[in-house]
Amino acid sequence: MNSIVCRYCQSENVVKYGHIHNGKKRYICYDCHRQFTPDAQKKYISDEQKNPWMKCY
Ligand SMILES: [Zn+2]
Repeated sequence: MNSIVCRYCQSENVVKYGHIHNGKKRYICYDCHRQFTPDAQKKYISDEQKNPWMKCY
C-alpha cells in the first residue's frame, strides 16, 4: 500500500527519493517526474486542532 500521492498530478506512482537538507523525506513522481515532500502539507494545523480543549473554558 502506498498512501503517498503526487502533489502535482495526484498519481500514486511515486517512490521515495532520499531526503532534503532539513531531513524531510522527498519523493519523485514517475508520471510527471517532479519531486515533492508530502510532509510539507501537514504543516497547516488550525488552532482548533492544536488545542481542542481551549473551547471548554
Ligand atoms: Zn506527478
